[in-house]
Amino acid sequence: MRCPFCAHLEDKVVDSRLSKDGDAIRRRRECLQCERRYTTYEHIEDVLPLVVKKDGRREPFDRLKIFHGLQKACEKRPVSTATLDATTDEIERDLQDLPDREVSSSWIGEKIMEKLRSLDQVAYVRFASVYREFKDINEFMNELAGILKKTEAEKKK
Ligand SMILES: [Zn+2]
Repeated sequence: MRCPFCAHLEDKVVDSRLSKDGDAIRRRRECLQCERRYTTYEHIEDVLPLVVKKDGRREPFDRLKIFHGLQKACEKRPVSTATLDATTDEIERDLQDLPDREVSSSWIGEKIMEKLRSLDQVAYVRFASVYREFKDINEFMNELAGILKKTEAEKKK
């Protein structure tokens, strides 16, 4: 840190504490040259892109929302909480890898479906039917038929 008084580059931290709302670390520093003290704040950089909702509003990525979505879809299904947690982690990592600063909520929805599809077919259909708010029953039946066909094909192997 460059000293604001003498521009010296070396200092020592004499005190370090969390800010009141917990989103920053306040450090009291002392310049090693002029020995004057100053304060710096350390913030966590927002590394995750903002989520753009259907109506155009932006909101921060909410890990818990993803987890709850998965949990709801997998209710009474043989999927462990640890698996749900790991799946949430995977989605979060995929999100971090995106080059964009913003991501549409539908990207997240598709991502959840993609993960559920390989996790549990019933959970997948459950989630997809709610998520896509199927406009007509045909669309839903098509989705279901596709899955059944796939399952049958796998059985035949
Ligand atoms: Zn100084």
